[in-house]
Amino acid sequence: MAGVQFIDVKKSFGAVNVIKGVNIGIDDGEFVILVGPSGCGKSTLLRMLAGLENITEGAIRIGDRVVNTVPPKDRDIAMVFQNYALYPHMTVADNMAFSLKLKGTPKEERDRRVKAAADILGLNQLLDRYPRQLSGGQRQRVAMGRAIVRDPQVFLFDEPLSNLDAKLRVAMRAEIKELHQRLQTTTVYVTHDQIEAMTMADKIVVLHDGVVEQIGAPLDLYDRPANLFVAGFIGSPA
Ligand code: ADP
Ligand code: MG
Repeated sequence: MAGVQFIDVKKSFGAVNVIKGVNIGIDDGEFVILVGPSGCGKSTLLRMLAGLENITEGAIRIGDRVVNTVPPKDRDIAMVFQNYALYPHMTVADNMAFSLKLKGTPKEERDRRVKAAADILGLNQLLDRYPRQLSGGQRQRVAMGRAIVRDPQVFLFDEPLSNLDAKLRVAMRAEIKELHQRLQTTTVYVTHDQIEAMTMADKIVVLHDGVVEQIGAPLDLYDRPANLFVAGFIGSPA
């Protein structure tokens, strides 16, 4: 496991500055939520941490390692997306084992890890099914299983629940938190849903237009918002 630091990070796409000097410190094992309106730069921050996007200025550290130029596959991070991105022609077990196969992990070890992840996520009865035979919540669990088998230093979630209906979303929030309590893996979780942020985070980072407006525990933001933007955003209904 490892903490994460964004140090004076800036990002431009052409002439457009979308991340304008961001500093965020995430402790080892912390569950941190980046929250803010659509277009404020949440996904860009995650993608830079994962190495899917270069940074324009500044530094990103994972543990004591500066990773600015480290390719994604060498960052020891696993990311769960909103659209799951499961392979339709592969079974649940093969979906979960695929990244390990690419890394050359022996079959026995792959099977062991898939089994362990399936136990945690309640997927044991579904290992031979294909994604089209699963419900939305089950697919989301497979996407999480795919991340867990890699045993990464950091989990990244980009709006993982936004395609689920309201009831399932509430249930999955609890599942993701339980998973975190069990594995204690440093987690950076993006949502535009302030209720999700308030109920799940150890620490919330409120973003607005490429700038950090406030960082704090949910109750701190609620009780002592740093400015009107934070007060309005945290206080408004989802
Ligand atoms: P969020 O995830 O908070 O909704 P994003 O990080 O996706 O926001 O986007 C932040 C800003 O950067 C937006 O204005 C978006 O249009 C812009 N942007 C993101 N990716 C690209 C890209 N590849 N090229 C140009 N602009 C981009
Ligand atoms: Mg986004």
